[in-house]
Amino acid sequence: MNYGTGYIAAIAKSERAYAELSAEQKNMLFVDTERQIYRFFPSGEVIVPEASAAAVLNRLAEFDVAEFFSDSSFHVLFRDDSNDNALVVTNQCNSNCVMCPCSEGSRRRISHETSEHLCRILEYMPTDARFLTLTGGEPTLLGNSLFPVLRKLKEHFEDFTEFQFLTNGRTFSDKAYLRQFLDAAPQHLHYGIPLYGFSAETHDPITRADGSFLQAVSGIKALLHHGCDVELRIVVSKLNLSYMDALAQFIAANFQGLSHVSVMAAEMCGAAAANRQEVWVDYQEAFQASKNAVKILLSSGINVMLFNFPLCKVERGYWALCQKSISDYKIRYYDTCRECSVKDLCGGVFRSTLLLTGMELNPI
Ligand code: SF4
Ligand code: SF4
Repeated sequence: MNYGTGYIAAIAKSERAYAELSAEQKNMLFVDTERQIYRFFPSGEVIVPEASAAAVLNRLAEFDVAEFFSDSSFHVLFRDDSNDNALVVTNQCNSNCVMCPCSEGSRRRISHETSEHLCRILEYMPTDARFLTLTGGEPTLLGNSLFPVLRKLKEHFEDFTEFQFLTNGRTFSDKAYLRQFLDAAPQHLHYGIPLYGFSAETHDPITRADGSFLQAVSGIKALLHHGCDVELRIVVSKLNLSYMDALAQFIAANFQGLSHVSVMAAEMCGAAAANRQEVWVDYQEAFQASKNAVKILLSSGINVMLFNFPLCKVERGYWALCQKSISDYKIRYYDTCRECSVKDLCGGVFRSTLLLTGMELNPI
């Protein structure tokens, strides 16, 4: 078997999963956990991995999907027990945000992703998945090749599957592209679009992409015009702390019909970590700077959610807006959190942020 370019397979650890995946004619990696033997099907190739590889493989659960490479590395593509699965459409982006959680290097690397490969990955996901995010980089950089992927979402998944499309919205300022996109898109598609400033002068220095504000605003308005389900996302950093109120007023005045606005604490990894001096503010300061903006949005009839804020950094009166938004594998608590009375309600903190900033947490 040649899997030099990646071999997509689902994981089977029981006879039942083996039978189910065989009936669906899917490639699989059958794991005999007792004997530590790994066998690919349908090729029948047996792999007995190094101890370290075995340890990693043991972290893959039945019906998870991964892509395996000839150097023994693999990427997890789908976790069967998670509602937080994502399809990364491309690592590249046409913006270069100062506090992007991906590194600049990873976004600049040329992506060779194809719609065929993405559709093949989707075929391995269960048709009754509840939720799937499409993300990047900027997914629309796939251009027209994105349309077969969108059509695949429609064909492959049940009607109840919900999709989230994370985009900077700029491409949707192109009306011809938007029309084709909407023709191909499945129902229940939710758009998450970042907006960091209320003008080109306040937004573009953060995206480090001239013209990004005008394009994003135009794209957001076009989506709303077509009745799309749009959420705006404001990442609060040192760069926009001082004009959160003006940003809220701009949103309230210009965008009718938003699903909600998410005010987000920054994830300190990738470019955000590299630009820490420019970006980082303690989450308590970020919350205080956002408080009035939240009130402005709510009083304008716009729903607001607070993402990535641990409860000890937020005034109690705003806890109802806090979401447990951090992906399970990225969450960290301090030892002191064990004595916190609201730990069960709290979404914790990004592992990367705690490691980088050493931020203090205050058990309640
Ligand atoms: S934050 Fe989003 S829009 Fe900005 S550079 Fe990163 S991927 Fe692109
Ligand atoms: S102390 Fe820990 S558990 Fe308690 S609110 Fe803060 S982060 Fe959450």
